[in-house]
Amino acid sequence: MAGRPGDGNGVASPAIEPVLTDAVIVGAGPVGLFQVFELGLQEIHSHVVDALPFVGGQPAQLYPDKPIYDVPGLPVTTGQSLTDALMKQSSPFEPTFHLSQTVSGLAQRPDGRFDVQTSRGTRFLTRTVFIAAGVGAFEPKRLNAPGLEAFEERQLFHHASQSGSLEGKRVVVIGDDDHAVDVALEIAQRQEARARSVTLMHRRDNLRADTVRLHKLREQCEHGLLRFLVGQITGVETTDDRLTGIDIGLPDGGTERLPVDTILSLQGLTPRLGPLADWGLEMEKKLLAVDTTSFCTSIPGVFAVGDINTYPGKRKLLVCGFHECTLAAFAAAAIVHPDRPVRLEYTTSSTRLHQLLGVLPR
Ligand SMILES: Cc1cc2nc3c(=O)[nH]c(=O)nc-3n(C[C@H](O)[C@H](O)[C@H](O)COP(=O)(O)OP(=O)(O)OC[C@H]3O[C@@H](n4cnc5c(N)ncnc54)[C@H](O)[C@@H]3O)c2cc1C
Repeated sequence: MAGRPGDGNGVASPAIEPVLTDAVIVGAGPVGLFQVFELGLQEIHSHVVDALPFVGGQPAQLYPDKPIYDVPGLPVTTGQSLTDALMKQSSPFEPTFHLSQTVSGLAQRPDGRFDVQTSRGTRFLTRTVFIAAGVGAFEPKRLNAPGLEAFEERQLFHHASQSGSLEGKRVVVIGDDDHAVDVALEIAQRQEARARSVTLMHRRDNLRADTVRLHKLREQCEHGLLRFLVGQITGVETTDDRLTGIDIGLPDGGTERLPVDTILSLQGLTPRLGPLADWGLEMEKKLLAVDTTSFCTSIPGVFAVGDINTYPGKRKLLVCGFHECTLAAFAAAAIVHPDRPVRLEYTTSSTRLHQLLGVLPR
C-alpha cells in the first residue's frame, strides 16, 4: 500500500537527454539493491530501473510477510523487512530509482559505453550495466474485459498504491490472494477518507488467501463494511468518458450491474523476460551465461547477477546473488576507475569506506 520503499525517495522522471552515469542496474529486487551497496563501496553511483512501482522484487511482491531463515546474520526476517533493510543499507550511496518502467533497449557504442532505454523513454549513457532482472519484469495479470483498458491508470489500477484517494468512491477490488484480501479489508476498515462502498470480487467462491484473512473477510461482510461477490466482468457502463458501472456475470448465469468509481485489479503478477533476450547476450535456457570470476556476461561491461544468471552450480538463493554483486562490483571498478588499483578493504577498518558510508566526515 502507500508508502512502500522506493515510491518516492530519489525517484526520477523521464528525461529526453540521456542520463550520463557509470552504472545502470536493471531490476530493484534484493540483488539489484545489494548491487547498489557494493557499487557504492567502489565509488560508483547507480541508477536503478524496475518495471514495478516499488522496490524489492520477489521477496516484496511474492512473500512480504513470510519468514526467511537463510540470510546470513539474520536468524529470521521477512520479504518486506529484508527489502527495507537493503534500502537502508544502500541509502548512503543515494541511488536514483526509475520505477514503473521496463528496460527495453541496450546497445553498445563504439567507445564501449552503453545506451540503455526504458519503456517510458528514459535514456542512459552508461559505462557499465548490471542485469539483476530475476525471473523477468513483473507485469500485472490483466483483466480480460472489453472496454476496460481505456480506463487504466484513471479508474483501473493494478497496484493499490497507485489509486490515489478513495474517499467517497465505490471501489471494486478484484483478486483472491492474501494481498487482494488485505487491500479490500484495509479500505473497508478506514476510519478517515472512507470509501463509499467496497466490494471484493473473484470468479470463484474459494479464495487463495489464508484462513485468518478469510475469517476477517467474513466478519467484515457480516458487519456490512464489505461485500464479497463471485463473478466476472462482462461489460462496462460509461458516462462522459468515465467508467460508472460494470456488468457482472454471476455463477447462476444471471447478471448484475455494479456501480463503480475505482477498480483495483490485484490478480497477481507474471514475470516476463521481455526484450532482454534480444540484447545479443549469450543465454542458456533463458538465463544469462556469466563468467564466475566477475559475473560478466558475454559482453564486457554488462554483468548479470541474481536469479537471471546461470553458471555451473548456480543456486537461485539470495546469498548467492549477494556474493555475485560483490565480485561484479570489483570488476566494474576496474572499468570505471581504470587509473586506480582495486583494493580489498574492510568496512570495519577502512577510513575511506567509512567516509563513503557517511559514518566519518569526508
Ligand atoms: C515464495 C518464495 C520464497 C523464497 N524464499 C527464499 C528463501 O527463503 N531464501 C532464499 O535465499 N531465497 C528465497 N527465494 C528466492 C529469492 O526470492 C530469489 O533468489 C531472489 O528474489 C532473487 O533476487 P533478484 O533480485 O535476482 O530477482 P527478483 O527478486 O526477481 O527481482 C528482479 C526485479 O527485476 C525487475 N525486472 C526484470 N526485468 C526488468 C526489466 N527489463 N526492466 C525493469 N525491471 C525489470 C522485476 O520487476 C523485479 O522487481 C524465494 C522465492 C520465492 C518465490
